[in-house]
Amino acid sequence: MAELVLKTLTKVYTQAQSPAVDQLNLAVRDGEFIALLGPSGCGKSTTLRMVAGLESVTAGEIRIGKKVVNKLHPKDRGVGLAFENYALYPPLKVRDNLAFNLRAHGLGAKEINRRVEEIACTLQIQELLDLKPAALSSGQKQRVNMARAMVRRPSVLLLDEPLSHLDARLRVELRTEIKRLHAEQRFTTIIVTHDQLEAMALADRIAVMNEGKLQQFDTPLEVFNHPANEFVAGFLGEPPMNIFRAVVADSGRLVIPDTDFALPITPGVKKLIDSRKELKLGIRPWGIRVSQTQTDGSVPGKVAVVEDLGDETRVGVRYGEVLIMSSIPVTRRYRPGLQVFLRFNEEDLNLFDSITGERLSDGGYEANQTAPETAGKNEIQAPVSR
Ligand code: ADP
Ligand code: MG
Repeated sequence: MAELVLKTLTKVYTQAQSPAVDQLNLAVRDGEFIALLGPSGCGKSTTLRMVAGLESVTAGEIRIGKKVVNKLHPKDRGVGLAFENYALYPPLKVRDNLAFNLRAHGLGAKEINRRVEEIACTLQIQELLDLKPAALSSGQKQRVNMARAMVRRPSVLLLDEPLSHLDARLRVELRTEIKRLHAEQRFTTIIVTHDQLEAMALADRIAVMNEGKLQQFDTPLEVFNHPANEFVAGFLGEPPMNIFRAVVADSGRLVIPDTDFALPITPGVKKLIDSRKELKLGIRPWGIRVSQTQTDGSVPGKVAVVEDLGDETRVGVRYGEVLIMSSIPVTRRYRPGLQVFLRFNEEDLNLFDSITGERLSDGGYEANQTAPETAGKNEIQAPVSR
């Protein structure tokens, strides 16, 4: 196990217009679990392949532990790989698939056998050891794939979408398993995924990428609650954050064109808005209150769509071109065509620069939220041990 540091890591494929990975800086702590999250084509796999040594580096540095590994052969980097299409060798039994790399490293038969049995036990694939890959289900193949990556006891474990071809139930099952394994083995791990739930559920910190560039690198809750920019805000969350154009009106309020929403501009928000006349306003669907009666600051509208999802009800209200999605506890009260009143929880509002998309809102509306240092004050304190 070791820390992994990427310094302005860049990859430009020949004949490509723009870099696939663009000056990526990332410091992964020893034993940490990191998710690289972003849309298809944003450079996640390229990053992982450079770390593994399967792809040359155009510029920048990869350090594992104390060693710069840019020029090292893949097998000398101490990384374990489980890629979604990193096939098992069909003619070999699972046991020999697992042993293959250990043999290549010159380990003795007894030690190899011991390690194979041990990892098979950890991943609960003992009964598969004497089967050939063709006899395995896709979930079993992924387990074997991961076992093969881990059996070498890598300094860094790299997983590229290991769950994306599995059906939903198996995916959640294996996800739980990966989390348990990490808690046990504490490999420094990077998982690549385009699935935000997977990233949120597994990772200590998430690196969100777009178009080869790092957008934000922080804990799941921080990335979710304080997205660094409009891209991150829109990428995490299902249904996604509502994002509107908002203008500073002569009335001194923040108005969403096409709607009757006119939000007060508090002194903190005024400071953030600065001299801007226009910005982007974001609010998650559960930051919107829906009611059949008008209250202070609520805005009338007609229900356009209702989605009954069993554990929540989503209500969409349309104002001209603008569709506002809310998510509320399950109710049968709302049907399309019904008049309702929407109200935004001010502390759930996010402000972004309308040109750069950068977040403005720290110290703005959300300043009313419970500050992190006072959060959990009501929790029962564990006795201090000494
Ligand atoms: P992701 O894993 O996030 O989906 P990739 O790292 O696979 O993205 O790809 C990043 C970009 O690099 C994409 O535009 C892709 O088309 C391009 N790319 C990936 N592999 C190659 C390659 N071998 N040759 C040329 N371009 C590539
Ligand atoms: Mg990929």
